[in-house]
Amino acid sequence: MKLHRVDLKRQYNRYRSEIDAAIKGVIHNTAFIGGEYVRSFEENFARYCGKQYCVGCGNGTDALHLALVALGIGRGDEVIVPAHTFVATVEAVVSAGATPVFADIEPDTYTLDPGHLSSLINSRTRAVIPVHIYGHPCDMEGISGVLEGKDIFLIEDTAQAHGAILDGRMAGTFGVAGCFSFFPGKNLGAYGDAGGIVSDDETLVKKIRRIRNHGREGRDDSFEKGINSRLDGLQAAILDVKLKHLEDDTERRRKVAALYTSLLSDVPGVVPPVEKPGARHVYHLYVIRADRRDQLGDFLKNAGIENGVHYRIPCHRLTAFRGDYGGESLPETERAVDEILTLPIFPELQPSEVRYVVRKIREFYGIEKGSH
Ligand SMILES: *Cc1c(COP(=O)(O)O)cnc(C)c1O
Repeated sequence: MKLHRVDLKRQYNRYRSEIDAAIKGVIHNTAFIGGEYVRSFEENFARYCGKQYCVGCGNGTDALHLALVALGIGRGDEVIVPAHTFVATVEAVVSAGATPVFADIEPDTYTLDPGHLSSLINSRTRAVIPVHIYGHPCDMEGISGVLEGKDIFLIEDTAQAHGAILDGRMAGTFGVAGCFSFFPGKNLGAYGDAGGIVSDDETLVKKIRRIRNHGREGRDDSFEKGINSRLDGLQAAILDVKLKHLEDDTERRRKVAALYTSLLSDVPGVVPPVEKPGARHVYHLYVIRADRRDQLGDFLKNAGIENGVHYRIPCHRLTAFRGDYGGESLPETERAVDEILTLPIFPELQPSEVRYVVRKIREFYGIEKGSH
């Protein structure tokens, strides 16, 4: 059996006629940049999240950058980010001119540890960017508690958590801005690069709309120092089709994850992901902790099962960014990166395929086949 970690072809085949029609429509109307398809997706995605506004942009990294810059964050400011995230979270802070400060994570959900966050706040701290990593919402109550009464912006990196919920509220709606990536492999993915910011703050949204389009409003004057980070019509039209199926896709992911977790529960050496009470995990990635992680990864690869490590080097140890860092160790992050392994997950993954993966994991650890 050959199993991809993500198989976008299967999803295209499910929605083929709708996607093809959407693409034809955009070309027919030559609505390539901005225009009706972008407006439609922005409205629909804002509604899905329960926010007033969504601003589409070029990618998820730009979404974070735009939010930071529009909030006036830059040189001399500190922005606290978890060290255990995709490098883009850190890049956005650096490209805004601010200094990233790395926080440790909670060992069960891999998300920002509010206790450690609290110890890092000082007079230069202007923002915190919690990351709902793998699709599990962060401890927003804990984080909000730490920020209460302080003049610090809460910006969410929701690139892996479209549709994740905590206590009835969508991930990306707790702070002043929720930043999304629609990279093809994300839970809501375009057919190229795309991103977006959701917010209820009209002034902020207006500013972001200008900055993403060269600072312009109308044709002539630039009102802000801007960039070019627009969402294009083809991506917006494809995203609008896929948004209609996002809840169904999420439920499929959750079924795949539930099957993995139940089959892995009695495998010593493996710790499946958790879902905290009140949380809806959307399983962008299905990440286990595993004894002899690298050997298990190789063993699965040899059995045709693609797998990966998200992420092998924590951000405070990346060559490009470790100069910004005092070198203090972040024990939970550093332990996690040596133990985590990402198994295949996507909405179309079949129960027989999940069983195959688990059978191979049991074989690796020398466990008798038993009832599985
Ligand atoms: C994917 C991702 C981003 C960046 O998104 P791009 O669209 O690739 O720029 C940012 N943060 C996290 C946690 C991500 O997974």
